[in-house]
Amino acid sequence: MKMIKLSPTSLNFFLNCPLCFWLSMNKVIDTPGTPMATIMNGLDRVIKEYMNRYRPHGKIPPFLEGKVPGKLIEFLPKSLKAEIGGNVLSGRLDECLVLDDGDHAPLDHKTKGFALKSGNEMNDAYQLQMDCYSLLLNENGHQTNGVGYIVYYYPDFGELHEGIPFRVHAVKVKTDPKKALKVFKDAVKCLEGEEPKPNKECGLCEYVRERKVHR
Ligand code: SF4
Repeated sequence: MKMIKLSPTSLNFFLNCPLCFWLSMNKVIDTPGTPMATIMNGLDRVIKEYMNRYRPHGKIPPFLEGKVPGKLIEFLPKSLKAEIGGNVLSGRLDECLVLDDGDHAPLDHKTKGFALKSGNEMNDAYQLQMDCYSLLLNENGHQTNGVGYIVYYYPDFGELHEGIPFRVHAVKVKTDPKKALKVFKDAVKCLEGEEPKPNKECGLCEYVRERKVHR
């Protein structure tokens, strides 16, 4: 049987609608996708370059001091892979912290237009992503202790002639590699099975089918 290769993004795709996921992976029928603002990519690049400048010094960059523990990992892997039952999960961590006791904690950068509503906002897609990163770290010999960090960046009001100010807010999240492993196995099972049912909450497939019936 052909090796199945999945990522945190494709696992979120699976959870969103097994049929869309199955069609894109088994029949190479892709959804149109959502255009991504280039400002996001630009900010991501700038943040990562800034972090890399502090990596060799074994310390946390000033804008994260007091917000996250430990130090930056010395060598940030380009991507991590885990072979699970003959299939592969791979993912690229934005960043990884090494805590004082030597455990590792994944860190992800998220750019937003506004401050978090609750100060501790978390959605299912982010949670699965962090669970997958913990699993990938463990499978590559880096012990984790059930925590990760999401760092949010959002613009603030200020003297714009001095540069557009950004706020930085770090949130500690719980991570569970076992949950990521379960979703991975469920996604593989889905791909190896018959065409699944569409997500009822989306309803678009049902709508198209009804239109054809009543035409
Ligand atoms: S229900 Fe929606 S998400 Fe699922 S396959 Fe149909 S159009 Fe795609």
